[in-house]
Amino acid sequence: MKHKPLLYRVTPSDPAGHQLQVSLILKDPDPAGQLLSMPAWIPGSYLIRDFSRHVTQIRASARGKTVPIRKTGSHAWRCDPADGPLHVDYTVYAWDLSVRGAHFDETHAFFNGTSLFLAPQGRTGRPCLLELLPPPHTRRWKVHTSLPEARNHPACARRHGFGMYLAPNYDALIDHPVEMGTPQVARFQAHGAEHELVFTGVAPNIDLPRMVRDIRRICAAQIALFDPEHKRAPFLDSSDRYVFMTMVTGDGYGGLEHRSSTALMTARADLPTVGREPQDEGYQRFLGLVSHEYFHTWHVKRIKPAAFAPYDLARENHTKLLWVFEGFTSYYDDLMLLRSGVIDEAAYFRLLAATITNVHRGPGRRLQSIADSSFDAWTRFYKQDENSPNAIVSYYTKGALAALGLDLLIQRESRGRRSLDDVMRMLWRRYGRDFYRGKPHGVPEDAMAGLIHEATGVDAAPFLQQYVYGTEDLPLASLLEHQGIQLQWTAASAIPSLDARFRASGAEVHLASVFTGGAAHAAGLSAGDALVAIDGLRVQGTDGLNALLQARRPGDKVRVHVFRRDELRRFDVVLGKPPADTAKLTRQV
Ligand SMILES: [Zn+2]
Repeated sequence: MKHKPLLYRVTPSDPAGHQLQVSLILKDPDPAGQLLSMPAWIPGSYLIRDFSRHVTQIRASARGKTVPIRKTGSHAWRCDPADGPLHVDYTVYAWDLSVRGAHFDETHAFFNGTSLFLAPQGRTGRPCLLELLPPPHTRRWKVHTSLPEARNHPACARRHGFGMYLAPNYDALIDHPVEMGTPQVARFQAHGAEHELVFTGVAPNIDLPRMVRDIRRICAAQIALFDPEHKRAPFLDSSDRYVFMTMVTGDGYGGLEHRSSTALMTARADLPTVGREPQDEGYQRFLGLVSHEYFHTWHVKRIKPAAFAPYDLARENHTKLLWVFEGFTSYYDDLMLLRSGVIDEAAYFRLLAATITNVHRGPGRRLQSIADSSFDAWTRFYKQDENSPNAIVSYYTKGALAALGLDLLIQRESRGRRSLDDVMRMLWRRYGRDFYRGKPHGVPEDAMAGLIHEATGVDAAPFLQQYVYGTEDLPLASLLEHQGIQLQWTAASAIPSLDARFRASGAEVHLASVFTGGAAHAAGLSAGDALVAIDGLRVQGTDGLNALLQARRPGDKVRVHVFRRDELRRFDVVLGKPPADTAKLTRQV
């Protein structure tokens, strides 16, 4: 017998109160009493977020009669045995302006399924119908999502309309976020596949044709990288379109990948406007984000660590492989801007040098490997504090450098016949291409050395041991030199250093982080200290601080007054040399 589908219904009922009304209708609930749960986290963002905390007014009924429902855990409920179809109705508070949650007011509604949909235990493999209803206050809203319309259903939604959508199972249902409202929209095709750009939020005069031109090239280059022969877009196994849904804000930045779409957040100033030459750095940042999330369509949404196949949404899913999935993606995001011709080599070198600089400035890279950083993402990378630069390394940035190092190593050892591209294509064929078609399986924890050898003939095991499972700095200077690229280190400025990071608000300057072994550390200064004066002269803003330090020389001893817990304290600091920690890349001629 064919399984009866689950029916979910979302009504954006109270925009002022940011309340979405959600219903789940289960035709044949568990006769022993139906268990229900909310995801504790959203795939792609490795932190327990307890989405259940925004669920209120939950009640259950069957044939018009109330069915008792009670909480059995932080994210779980149990209904009493019910006679007939079970209706579960609840309200979700949606006021989290991020790519990870749900946000709803009179201008738009955005949600991830992980914030809205209860999972009925034992029933999550069934098809899920999603009925989207319009808000009460306007008829102008449209729907933007990669979730396919429920063809053959009498209430099937029209393209961009309200009505019925269909996911093959719960895992798919929560992997197609939904944007409803009146966004700016542009469309294009890359290798014949439909793509949509959706911009929500006030963004006057943005240059949509320019973004279409650039993003189409990035998408086409990535499709050709993974499937040079057929150039088939990866998301066609789940949807007939890919949707970039971008929330435009004053200073936002971030993205979250899904199987046929991505949710992005960007600063208004990073988008190009009509009639103005785009401010390259900001627009490159936006294109880099677009490129990063699109790359995930292959790499982490289909090629996955075995630990994510399937996800366990009730608890942390540990893997030592995030350096592969976020690191390689961070390497290819900028590289694809170069390969697609959206940026030139000089701009690419600046981006790459910025990543090298960023990694080099964290003393924590000597204490933690990127394999361990991956494993501890949940408790350390996603829970950073003032000591993080001293204690951890980023599996994004050092992972990107590991990818660069592997790419250069493979090219050198194979005399230019193989590259990291060959590894990506093999990962795709073996783990990714049929992930949503056959029996899904992921990359085993210890498989990378073997896979690299199989794809390229290069033994990368010693490299991985030193730089991925160990904490050594990557030998980038010599690897790059082999390609005719010179890596040089310079000081960012000539100003003597306190070896600390600062946080300024107006005239007030606080120490944000104090680097282990540096001048501030040696003198006893701490993160959180409010700088008052240096040698009796008031510190006013970071410019004022720099002006005071500029008048000094490395090795000078200065008196530093700070407030700590409202108490005035004095420290004698021997100023450090400006560190030569800024990387520069140039092509040798
Ligand atoms: Zn990512």
